[in-house]
Amino acid sequence: MNLTTASRKSHCPACGLDTDTVSVDAPGMEPQPPHPGQLSICRKCGAVCELTDSMDLRELPDNELSGIRDEKPAMYEHIETVRDAIESAKKFRAPKREAAIR
Ligand SMILES: [Zn+2]
Repeated sequence: MNLTTASRKSHCPACGLDTDTVSVDAPGMEPQPPHPGQLSICRKCGAVCELTDSMDLRELPDNELSGIRDEKPAMYEHIETVRDAIESAKKFRAPKREAAIR
């Protein structure tokens, strides 16, 4: 595998955002360079994706997320923490329509 392709930007398969994703691999450990099987979370929509062997992003279906929850609870907790943070950030990005109505 050519590692120079690993640092390219990818598109989120869920929302299409041009993204350099948030890694959730090995929480609490040194950051690792992108590699197949690494999980990442879209900064915009919170989709949990996995890098494929060809370094493309693939959104994890719910049953695979459940598998992570069962087999790697610490990693799953980290994923949930990151997704909660993204959800919170959405509130600040959302248009404040209600506040504009007087
Ligand atoms: Zn996305």
